[in-house]
Amino acid sequence: MLVKSILNRVQRHRGFVYGSSRWREQGKSTVLDIDIRPRDGSRPICSGCGRSAPGYDTMPARRFEFIPLWGIAVFFVYAMRRVDCPRCGVKVEKVPWAEGKNHLTTTYAWFLARWARRLSWKEVGEAFQTSWDNVFRSVKMAVAWGLAHRDLESVTAIGIDEIAWKKGHKYASSAESVGREQ
Ligand SMILES: [Zn+2]
Repeated sequence: MLVKSILNRVQRHRGFVYGSSRWREQGKSTVLDIDIRPRDGSRPICSGCGRSAPGYDTMPARRFEFIPLWGIAVFFVYAMRRVDCPRCGVKVEKVPWAEGKNHLTTTYAWFLARWARRLSWKEVGEAFQTSWDNVFRSVKMAVAWGLAHRDLESVTAIGIDEIAWKKGHKYASSAESVGREQ
């Protein structure tokens, strides 16, 4: 079975199709790059107003990190289009797999944020071979979502001791006992 078939099953994007995939050396590890391209005839969506608009130009391809597969880091590779929107002017398109300038896919950010409820952020980063910052940003996204939806649960408390760790503090705060659900 092709990786493409798996992705079409778990993560289908309207208006876009998966292309070829290939190995890439990144530092000491080998990662998987998977191309995404617009479906033929699909019009880009303006990130300003959320409506479809005529294409303006295409920017260089960039990578969006997706959930690792069997311990292999996975990246979507896509050249963002810009639109010439009659309402907003020239804007970059909105894509369904990531928000704004985020280089993590939304799916992967949620995946990390969920794990960050069970493990420390450092442990999540190590377990999925991603940076502390990626975990931090994912939790921040989840918290923002939680604030907007008034469903904070315990996600904020867990991070308090982690922020201290990031700043390099030697600390013995009560945050750990408050934050961890262990
Ligand atoms: Zn617009």
